[in-house]
Amino acid sequence: MSNSLRKARSDRKRRRRPTLIERDGNVCHYCKRPPEQVARRQLTEDHVIPRVMGGPNALWNIVLACFACGQRKGHRLPTCCCPVCERAVAIFAATPRTTEVA
Ligand SMILES: [Zn+2]
Ligand SMILES: [Zn+2]
Repeated sequence: MSNSLRKARSDRKRRRRPTLIERDGNVCHYCKRPPEQVARRQLTEDHVIPRVMGGPNALWNIVLACFACGQRKGHRLPTCCCPVCERAVAIFAATPRTTEVA
C-alpha cells in the first residue's frame, strides 16, 4: 500500500470518530466503560454485523468497543438489543446480498 493511500484511510477514520462519539459517547458500546478504564486504554471500531458476514464499513454498522468486548463478540451478530444494533441488523436484513450463492 502506498503512503498516500494509507494516510487517506486513517484520515477517514479520524473524521468518523467524532460522529461515533457524538452518537454513543466516548465509551465502549458493550460495557460502557471509557477508554481510561479498559485494556490498552483505547476503544476500537467494532462492526455490529461482522465483516466476515458481509457487514459493510458504514457508520450505522460501527460502534466503539474496548478490546475485551471486541474479542468476546468476535465474528458473531450482536447480542445486545440496543437501538443501534437493532437498526444495523434491520438495515442489513433489508439489504439484498449480491455475494450470496444460490
Ligand atoms: Zn467493553
Ligand atoms: Zn448494541
